Amino acid sequence: MRATIFNAPGNVTVEDRPEPHAGPGAIRLRIAAASLCASDVRVYRGEKHAAPGVIPGHELAGVVDEVGEGVEGIREGQRVIICPIVACNRCLYCLLGRRNRCEKRLTLGYDLDGGFADYLVVPPSIVSTGQVFEVADDLPLDIAALTEPSACTLASLELCQVRAGTSMAIVGAGPMGLLHLIMGRALGAGPIIVVEPIAERREIAKRWGADLVLDPNVDDVKGAVRASTDGRLGADAVIVSVGVAELVGPALDLARPQAVVNLFAGFPRGGAPVPFDPNLVHYSEVLLTGSQNATADQYRRTLRLLRSTPHIDEVVTNRYTVETSPEAYTARLAMNGLKSLVQFAGVDPNN
Ligand SMILES: [Zn+2]
Ligand SMILES: [Zn+2]
Repeated sequence: MRATIFNAPGNVTVEDRPEPHAGPGAIRLRIAAASLCASDVRVYRGEKHAAPGVIPGHELAGVVDEVGEGVEGIREGQRVIICPIVACNRCLYCLLGRRNRCEKRLTLGYDLDGGFADYLVVPPSIVSTGQVFEVADDLPLDIAALTEPSACTLASLELCQVRAGTSMAIVGAGPMGLLHLIMGRALGAGPIIVVEPIAERREIAKRWGADLVLDPNVDDVKGAVRASTDGRLGADAVIVSVGVAELVGPALDLARPQAVVNLFAGFPRGGAPVPFDPNLVHYSEVLLTGSQNATADQYRRTLRLLRSTPHIDEVVTNRYTVETSPEAYTARLAMNGLKSLVQFAGVDPNN
């Protein structure tokens, strides 16, 4: 089979790999589509670790084409997505039901082979724990491939206690900021204010339902957020979806007292610590937190929510084959478009 291989930072190639087969307890997927994550780009930049020689891709959808001995409840031909986390089931976090925080966690696409290849064998530890989810007939697989980033977004929104009528400020309108916008909309949040310096992305945010879009280089962001939220206090939830540490202080300033500020983006390693006013946290009782990945239950519910999330079909702007997949990395580095998707010829994503 043909596969994308991560060799080292800045070095991604396309190679032949032997076709894997599903052993006992495992299933094999014919991959339909797999999207590139901002964290894949961080690996490419050398800011995050992945095993040299691994097949990247943890945001994927495919069709089951081999079912290993002893697997129950999964059949050949089923259209599925997976939660790509292999957890130990024994550590404190696993016991708390937070397998995404497992101390011995391995993730497909970083530590183990992922979905940028014709086939993927999903290991028994993912199959037996219910982390394989059937995709509804009316959801195309190229949209279902976005379940992982969308589940991470749902986890972030739920951490921020976003519900109908929650006011949100989103700092950064890259693909993940925009997912927060459309999923926040799907949950009934509003007003939603998006802060983004790139004009093209501000236009997308406006078109996709942001109540207010602000250019931080021109607009009085703090004043505008306050003017459009209850009692001019600030937003109920503030999401930082761009990995610029200097934005943490200004983001705190957009939050009303007792709001939640979530540092959703990852930040470059080794950056200088950034100061912020601790009284913004103390006197305002703002909850400053972070989030990464999601629980299996959040994957399950996201897969339902994607069927009614506006504009989800427009999130993918760049499409590649496995042969052209290294270009997906360079396009993202150039900030060209939103989400990049690798599509595989063997499976029609629409059926
Ligand atoms: Zn991802
Ligand atoms: Zn664990």
